[in-house]
Amino acid sequence: MLRILILGGTTEASALARLLAEDARFHPMLSLAGRTAAPAPQPLPMRIGGFGGAEGLARWLEAEAIAAVIDATHPYAARISGNAVNACARLGLPLGSVTRLPWTEQPGDRWQPVESAQAAASLLATETGPRHVFLSLGRLELGAFAAAPQHDYLARSIDAPQGGVLPPRIRFIFQRGPFDGEAEARLLAAERIDLIVSKNAGGTATYGKIEAARQAGLPVMMIRRPEKPQGDVLSGPEEAMSWLARIAGHGRDAPSARDV
Ligand code: NAP
Repeated sequence: MLRILILGGTTEASALARLLAEDARFHPMLSLAGRTAAPAPQPLPMRIGGFGGAEGLARWLEAEAIAAVIDATHPYAARISGNAVNACARLGLPLGSVTRLPWTEQPGDRWQPVESAQAAASLLATETGPRHVFLSLGRLELGAFAAAPQHDYLARSIDAPQGGVLPPRIRFIFQRGPFDGEAEARLLAAERIDLIVSKNAGGTATYGKIEAARQAGLPVMMIRRPEKPQGDVLSGPEEAMSWLARIAGHGRDAPSARDV
């Protein structure tokens, strides 16, 4: 059985976990960073928490005799992907990267590109009239908006923030996606939202708010995607399964990050 590590924390990683759980050729393990207090149940053995950089990851992969790694982390999780490229290159291990295409601006969208949550907050700090801002961001990025305290913020996250600075007028909704467009439209209307700050996550699970913003003519500050190091580019869980099947069939001669 081929020992596999999946770097997860995404819809794609969970879908791949379900496919792998039913396939006797593989002995997979799913790794999460530990950002959410109660992660969704998974059909695979899980490990939780950082490895200790690229070096720690390489040591872990060697100790666990892992034969292939799938990086199915979020498009904005660039550090772990850099570590995966580095560790797999050191050990000569095949690395496949599940890559989610970004959303593209459609007619009717009013996107304003920004570099980061801090950049969005700096722009908001210059606005005098208070606005109702929907922050669709991880809880670690919310502190930036303390720099623009005149606005009312609604933030959605899975868990409550634990300490740290927050803008004074912030309320939370604790929910786990997916979120559909109609429910998002109702939320934006009920909360009288007039601006959204979002990552360009891609995929369908969180696209509802973008559709709802388009329908309502609302502006979206869209945070630029980071450069994310990659191995072999895989379009989704099905392609990841074919890639793994090739590796299972050919041992270490399989395609690897080094050939890209
Ligand atoms: P990041 O900046 O790339 O990673 C920071 C550190 O967290 C890494 O250096 C690593 O620690 C640890 N880490 C990250 N993903 C890990 C994983 N799957 N397993 C074990 N350790 C992991 O990542 P992030 O943006 O903080 O995201 C953390 C997790 O949340 C990822 O699994 C990602 O898929 C998920 N997520 C992120 C976002 C987002 O917007 N960034 C959105 C949804 C889900 P060590 O160096 O100690 O190994």
